[in-house]
Amino acid sequence: MSDEFRRAADIIRGSAFLISLTGAGISVESGIPDFRSAGGLWEKYDPAVYASIDTFHRHPEKVWEMIFEMIDVTSSAAPNSAHRALARMEEMGILKYIITQNIDNLHQTAGSINVIEYHGNASRLECPGCGTESEVSAYDFAEKVPPRCDDCDKILKPSVIFFGEMIPHEAMMKSQELAESADTVIVVGTSAVVYPAAGIPIVAKRNGAKIIEFNVMETDFTRSITDVFVGGMAGQTLPKLMEYLA
Ligand code: NAD
Repeated sequence: MSDEFRRAADIIRGSAFLISLTGAGISVESGIPDFRSAGGLWEKYDPAVYASIDTFHRHPEKVWEMIFEMIDVTSSAAPNSAHRALARMEEMGILKYIITQNIDNLHQTAGSINVIEYHGNASRLECPGCGTESEVSAYDFAEKVPPRCDDCDKILKPSVIFFGEMIPHEAMMKSQELAESADTVIVVGTSAVVYPAAGIPIVAKRNGAKIIEFNVMETDFTRSITDVFVGGMAGQTLPKLMEYLA
């Protein structure tokens, strides 16, 4: 067993309150591109423009061109072995909570129960006018016409946090509480640049937690707060960690 897996497993075995922060990287092996994937959705649609709430308010039809494709990608994706490993860790009583920046619902589909959706969930829609919520699955997008609210006729918006929007209050408060209580944080597939989510492991570290980072490349965390860095694709490294914890 490689040294980093042994060290990660030792920390986890000694942990009383383990949480995980996940980012887009954990879903790359499910076919959902992260912000850095070549040839993916975000090469075609600059997230700084298309994932901005300002753009949505001014040009919702334009942003829906991207949303149709995003819904297509997320609704046809299935969890991979990294999502399943975290779900199994919760089932074993080792992992207490996942805070995910992802909007793809794949942790829940994999069987994870305690999931905080820090940036919302693309399987739901909401009306920016009256707040009415609905499920994406209730709509037929074959004609590529942005859906409108039955009550106030505004163009609906996915229930995800666009750049420039506030993190949902409850998710923010619960994540802060978890960051302060955790003695170990497993950080998976996040570039550590999108705040306030990137602040969660930093708060935990300040409170004495150990940080175990899984990523294909080093991040801003690696040389600052990370105790154990496990390099490689999460779909391979997390199942390998599970072998050691079994
Ligand atoms: P990011 O795109 O900024 O960074 C992804 C990170 O994952 C990178 O550090 C990359 O090296 C790493 N990575 C890529 N493939 C990996 C793999 N197979 N195994 C392990 N690591 C891998 O993503 P972010 O940090 O989550 O921030 C971007 C924001 O974009 C998030 O807020 C999120 O809401 C949103 N987003 C979500 C999805 C999704 O729901 N799946 C997809 C794209 C973007």
